[in-house]
Amino acid sequence: MSVTFAHERLRDIAHRIVQAGGSSEAEAAVVAGHLVDANLAGHDSHGVGVLPHYVRDIQAGLLRPNQAPEIVLENGSFAVWDGRLGYGQRIQHEAMEWCIATAKRLGVAVHALRDSHHIGRVGAYGEQAAAAGVVSVQFVRSDSGETFVAPFRGREGRYMTNPVCIAIPATATNPAFLLDFATSKLAMGKVREAHQKGVELPEGAVVAANGSPTRDPGVMYREPPGALLPFGEHKGYGLALACEILAGAMTGHGTTKGLPPYRGALNGSLSIVLDPSWLGAQSTMATEIDAFIAWVKSTPPADPSLPVLVAGEPERLNRAERLSRGIVIADMTWKQICEAASTLDVRVET
Ligand code: NAD
Repeated sequence: MSVTFAHERLRDIAHRIVQAGGSSEAEAAVVAGHLVDANLAGHDSHGVGVLPHYVRDIQAGLLRPNQAPEIVLENGSFAVWDGRLGYGQRIQHEAMEWCIATAKRLGVAVHALRDSHHIGRVGAYGEQAAAAGVVSVQFVRSDSGETFVAPFRGREGRYMTNPVCIAIPATATNPAFLLDFATSKLAMGKVREAHQKGVELPEGAVVAANGSPTRDPGVMYREPPGALLPFGEHKGYGLALACEILAGAMTGHGTTKGLPPYRGALNGSLSIVLDPSWLGAQSTMATEIDAFIAWVKSTPPADPSLPVLVAGEPERLNRAERLSRGIVIADMTWKQICEAASTLDVRVET
């Protein structure tokens, strides 16, 4: 069972919940816009379904509304931002604005973010940079007091789903390239969704606590729990460790060491932003991108019903469809949103 919402309606509901949690009108608009856009892009794991977690973190003092992000160290094209446990959607957006302006001035900008609450769908900031004509590479450390993801060849979780995002501006012919994924085989939100719906996971996504492969999402909710596996075996595992080091050790946010106490759903991140015009190759770059993508897409699909796509296309296709047909929210998710809203005296209805 599920409920379908027009995106404007869902944005209004999310806005009212975030504002009732203590955020200013402007902050609530940024957060609600980000969450609903994640639903529109097809990433329901990072859409309005996270609101009950956010409300819990606010009530526990672990998410602090209305935190203006602070640059604690600025050194030429480098800046360190302290998120002060504020809404990551606002903080990473503002930090990316700084990166874009600095990259246009100096060719490159690097921003390290620590102690931010959840920044959500990382691709949103890749899209923001690409729309401004700059290239971005983001490494993110997920930090939520749990360690669901096992290292390659391991069977106990040691860190979280640490996402990576690479975004490249559009050319006259091709929309922006947007590669944005968790380094685990599945984002944890997708395991939660499968568990709620009672459906099996794809092969190779999780192992039971004894290390045996399984498709049952329930193993993640038993004691002792199973573990999510990295995507691409040793390759995704290596990338996840790079996130811990670049977004955790290098930013001052810290890495996963033992089972940390729950401090809220936090993120540390390292973003590198480049203005390609500084390489003097802007026009040839666009021509090369267009020729290369045309070549890649000239391959016949192995299954004619599944066309060859380029990163960023699934999100655009989902957005077009969901803008016209609405956003489907699973019953369980809607129930949790209503419960969270009622704790803030917000009335929401379908
Ligand atoms: P996913 O597995 O759906 O992969 C998405 C990426 O793959 C996108 O770049 C998409 O364009 C591309 N893609 C998908 N199908 C494709 C195809 N057929 N051909 C070419 N490219 C294709 O993503 P995920 O790992 O489930 O992550 C979902 C979201 O969760 C991301 O937006 C990520 O930023 C977010 N996330 C955030 C955190 C956090 O701590 N803030 C942690 C984990 C994940």
